[in-house]
Amino acid sequence: MRKLLIFLGPPGAGKGTQAKILAENCDIAHISTGDMLRAAVAGGTKIGQEVKEVLDRGELVPDRLMIDIIKDRIGRDDCKQGFLLDGFPRTIQQAQALQELLAAEDQQISDVILLKVNEEQLIARILKRGEESGRSDDTREVIENRISVYNQQTSPLISFYQDLGLLREVDGIGTIAEIQDRIVENLQ
Ligand code: AMP
Repeated sequence: MRKLLIFLGPPGAGKGTQAKILAENCDIAHISTGDMLRAAVAGGTKIGQEVKEVLDRGELVPDRLMIDIIKDRIGRDDCKQGFLLDGFPRTIQQAQALQELLAAEDQQISDVILLKVNEEQLIARILKRGEESGRSDDTREVIENRISVYNQQTSPLISFYQDLGLLREVDGIGTIAEIQDRIVENLQ
């Protein structure tokens, strides 16, 4: 069966790092909506121009646009074996749309991994990442907004997936290898 995974967790929890390693090891596509949107901004595409300011403020791109992007992306050839979604869904509306897209093809999510990290650690991690990567939304003000957007709009997904019996919680504090081992163990 296709492995369809979702990574959930606040900004700075290490989703991107862990998702990339896991997707490579499982031989499934790693789909980071943040990376896709940043590439669109850098490339100056129509979508990029539309979303640039939203990204810079740390707010969410409208659901309709995100759902269209994901619908197109998960239909591509590299998703035949499965995929790992990193950064989508971020709202209940997106999660419901994903359920419908998959149900229409008789598919369903295999597991949802929630990476847990406390708020102080998050801010410290993101500020460090900002120094290293130069990401325009990795400043303290925008980070605090992104965490509050997560708490308000994305954290309701935890109980959404818990109710579906799909949620797997993983402690996100430790070395990259330690956390990856916990994820793999939890999925077994
Ligand atoms: P990320 O790299 O996942 O932290 O995403 C960076 C930014 O892209 C977010 O702060 C949002 O502005 C935007 N973004 C990424 N994924 C989504 C999504 N599923 N829904 C809405 N906005 C998103």
